[in-house]
Amino acid sequence: MNDLFCVIGGNAAGLSAAMQIKRLSPKTHVILFEKSGLVSYSKCLLPYYLSGRIEGIDAISVKPAVFFSDQGIEILQAEVTRIDVRSREVLYIENGRLRTLRYRKLLLATGTRYSKPEGENFFMPVPDDYIRAGELIRAGKIRTAAVIGGGFAGCETALELSRVGIAVDLIEKNRVLSLFSPQFAEELKGFLGGNTRMMENTDFLGTDGELLRTSRFERKYDAAFFCLTPKPSTEMIDIPKMKNGAVRTDAKCRTENEDIFAAGDCASVTFVNNRTGTMPSAVYANKTGKTAAYSMLSKRTPGFFASGSTMIDLDGIVAARTGVEEGSVCIVKKLPDSKDDKGRPSGGLIVLGCSESGIIKYGEVFSPGTYALQAVTLLGSFLGRPLNELIAADIPYAPFINRVLDPVQAAAFGLLLKIR
Ligand SMILES: Cc1cc2nc3c(=O)[nH]c(=O)nc-3n(C[C@H](O)[C@H](O)[C@H](O)COP(=O)(O)OP(=O)(O)OC[C@H]3O[C@@H](n4cnc5c(N)ncnc54)[C@H](O)[C@@H]3O)c2cc1C
Repeated sequence: MNDLFCVIGGNAAGLSAAMQIKRLSPKTHVILFEKSGLVSYSKCLLPYYLSGRIEGIDAISVKPAVFFSDQGIEILQAEVTRIDVRSREVLYIENGRLRTLRYRKLLLATGTRYSKPEGENFFMPVPDDYIRAGELIRAGKIRTAAVIGGGFAGCETALELSRVGIAVDLIEKNRVLSLFSPQFAEELKGFLGGNTRMMENTDFLGTDGELLRTSRFERKYDAAFFCLTPKPSTEMIDIPKMKNGAVRTDAKCRTENEDIFAAGDCASVTFVNNRTGTMPSAVYANKTGKTAAYSMLSKRTPGFFASGSTMIDLDGIVAARTGVEEGSVCIVKKLPDSKDDKGRPSGGLIVLGCSESGIIKYGEVFSPGTYALQAVTLLGSFLGRPLNELIAADIPYAPFINRVLDPVQAAAFGLLLKIR
């Protein structure tokens, strides 16, 4: 029997899985396919190319490929075009030639893909596009821009464009930052920069050459940035999927095929209330990647590895929780009840619970908006792990999460002192 483990996708989910497989079972032969020239890179930093806060491809690289090869992971720069589930074969293109490889177990970690219409000055949030757009901006060739899609990627793009004086129309078919309550989203919109015009309830209809057509107007811009909800990249495999194309998985990243697993943005997520959905986030991708490694090796996942959280929005105040089993020891940490230098409220509460032996069991956060969501997502990724791990955590990937890490670590430290 061929013992090869194949991982498809070389970013947060795929590399977390490959590394964890090697840690748990150093002799397992792992081949990882990545179609782009990049592995382990931060998509979250892409908007900073536009304002020039970062430059060059190295700026988004988290770890170089050689770091992973040194751990015994074989990385192939190749695009997987099809997975034949019956014959257990991966079909891929390497140096222009179609090749096949038989696998024993397979992990799909292919993330999502954006799309855009044909056009010289149309961009989507992928490295090549944003680097090129940044160069055009610095050459003074972009003074007006449309950003289509008012989610996280669209808002960050609008903000960075606005910072360098570009007049931005942010076009959104519903409302901007609809992940948040209208009240809190209103607060946040004030921080998107004075050069940004919000065009809510405006449907993007299509393009005619360089002309952008919407349900309310038609206009030509120097550049247009397409940040519409991306689609899971799962077209190469025929297994049960959700309506949006995400591969259906259980809480242990298993699909209906016993030798195929899926993790990260291309897979469904099981929330603690047992509902299924998708949660495009680097933190989840890292966590589900690790979970998949345990499942691929038929090992029990340590602790409680369910993903997700529950949250309630009380007039702009978010109360969120992750974990289902209450620990016997808990700590409550009040966040500073003040406003930050931009006038944003920053108060709130963190509740952290663990077992007598220091294993994190649950977390609750109460705070205005984004903080609570990010903090609870972060806590979710440490469920079932020892407090020490959370205290020592260094997350070099998502800048947003880093700001959240400090108070959560302080709470974990307080809890550790309490159980000692
Ligand atoms: C602008 C922006 C800002 C963001 N900000 C944040 C943030 O602040 N916090 C946060 O947590 N998350 C953020 N995210 C989301 C985060 O980047 C993703 O959730 C994370 O990258 C998902 O990791 P993944 O490994 O599942 O997928 P991806 O990162 O999409 O990686 C999948 C990899 O698979 C490769 N691949 C796909 N198909 C094939 C194939 N057929 N053959 C070979 N290789 C293939 C791709 O080239 C890619 O490298 C942001 C995203 C964007 C775009």
